[in-house]
Amino acid sequence: MKKEFKAESKRLLDLMINSIYTHREIFLRELISNSSDAIDKIYYKALTDENLTFNQDDYYIKLEADKESRTLTIIDTGIGMTQDELEANLGVIANSGSFAFKKENELKDGFDIIGQFGVGFYSAFMVAEHVTVITKALGSEQAYRWESEGAEGYTIEACEKEEVGTKIILKLKENTEDENYDDYLEEYRLKSIVKKYSDFIRYPIKMDISSSRLKDGSEDEYEDYKEEKIINSMVPIWRKNKSELKEEDYNNFYSEKHYGFDKPLRHIHISADGAVRYQSILFIPEKTPFDFYTKEYEKGLELYSSGVMIMNKCADLLPDYFSFVKGMVDSEDLSLNISRELLQHDRQLKIIAKRIKEKVKSELLNILKNDREKYEEFYKNFGRQLKFGVYSDFGQDKETLQDLIMFYSSTEKKMVTLEEYVTRMKEDQKFIYYASGESVEKIDKLPQTELVSDEGYEILYFTDDVDEFAVKMMMNYMDKEFKSVSSGDLGIENEKIDETPEEKEENQDIFSMMKEELSGKVKDIRASKRLKSHPVCITSEGELSIEMEKVLSAMPN
Ligand code: ADP
Ligand code: MG
Repeated sequence: MKKEFKAESKRLLDLMINSIYTHREIFLRELISNSSDAIDKIYYKALTDENLTFNQDDYYIKLEADKESRTLTIIDTGIGMTQDELEANLGVIANSGSFAFKKENELKDGFDIIGQFGVGFYSAFMVAEHVTVITKALGSEQAYRWESEGAEGYTIEACEKEEVGTKIILKLKENTEDENYDDYLEEYRLKSIVKKYSDFIRYPIKMDISSSRLKDGSEDEYEDYKEEKIINSMVPIWRKNKSELKEEDYNNFYSEKHYGFDKPLRHIHISADGAVRYQSILFIPEKTPFDFYTKEYEKGLELYSSGVMIMNKCADLLPDYFSFVKGMVDSEDLSLNISRELLQHDRQLKIIAKRIKEKVKSELLNILKNDREKYEEFYKNFGRQLKFGVYSDFGQDKETLQDLIMFYSSTEKKMVTLEEYVTRMKEDQKFIYYASGESVEKIDKLPQTELVSDEGYEILYFTDDVDEFAVKMMMNYMDKEFKSVSSGDLGIENEKIDETPEEKEENQDIFSMMKEELSGKVKDIRASKRLKSHPVCITSEGELSIEMEKVLSAMPN
């Protein structure tokens, strides 16, 4: 007898098929997740039922594609469904047997049951015109067949099936102009979808893969044959113990995931068990990604929920200034929305993002302390990003970043940190001095640096546009204010910038002549004791240095 879906279900099914998911290919992720859940349930039963043993080898998921009948079949050796369960779980949309199972058994740690919304199954109708489910429940003698062609309804009848478990047969839709459904029968396509979304499902996903080999006894004749292979990696590297893993394993993961063509400079492996449980592997790349400074570059980390990939690039997990960080996060504690594609901006995600930010920072500090050369290399690639970070969002992250930034030093002739500068400061020195310019060579020639240098003070060279904006945002570092060498008052004790009244009198004529000549270009002309080997220099009064004014006036309004 044909039963109709409940009215709400009909509408929902329609909505499902046409709009919840943006990528049709995720139907496979959903069906495989269900199979994995079904095996998890047997596994759980075996833990609590003495009469049942769980033999890892007997539990698997298998994909079978048949080009002739245009069917794709997903087989599992999971717990199966009784007639009532078929009715309840597949006859009522948005009813999740898996969610109920989790609740009933109060499953917490160690169980990764994925299902919760009771809609994933219907994604099969995005690619199939006819879906058949043949299933036999654990402990039941009778198997059942559920069949449906979508919104119109479904039938359930008794049938034959030897082993416990479920088999889902998808009769693919006819090809259309914008979708070639036959694609879902191709080995390479199926393999790549599994790799993308379901690589870390804990049970083997098997498929018969075609290969060719030399014919028996022949030296040049080949024959095609099929060989059953496991196409998922099963144990995600991030669930492994750090002590089991070598540098090489992380490097392999980095390239397998196409995070970059380089080798990572450093990896960070987090396994958190606190308020939010999650695992994460992060990488600091060695080289700047080729598209890093283009609009095409998208920051973000891969996001998994209980081993299933739900988002390719989750931007919310990284602040802009750490946008070079690559990697992934897996958590069982995320609140997902129904399509598992988008996340509500939830609290858990925020907590994870905060922890990741702190971790990356402390790892960078660690490199700075223990491997200076590596850090300088890193800084060459991404330092600008960090300085922008100090400056952006009204400096709210300046504390995070101030110990990570570096500038070229006039006395050390290399990159130094602010901490190094301040601990080296002379006793009578009040400020952190800096000079802005296009390049180290050009700043070296600035007359304004002479007096400060002659006092024996170190000067930081600001060669990036953002530098001065960044320190203006910081205001001070370890209570020391920043001061441009071109500012009017350098705060140097024995500096006598102003002329004596006699000198003023003396210079009166020539200065007014010069002022007239430069009218509108300079505000004042004074004699100065600041100059040593240069006849004249320009200084600024007030907050903005000359360089900063240049940058500002070059900016489009
Ligand atoms: P969810 O997985 O979110 O619960 P689905 O629509 O994907 O929602 O599946 C609905 C329910 O159908 C599941 O909760 C589960 O009880 C049942 N189910 C689906 N596929 C299988 C399967 N392969 N084996 C056993 N039960 C299944
Ligand atoms: Mg599901």
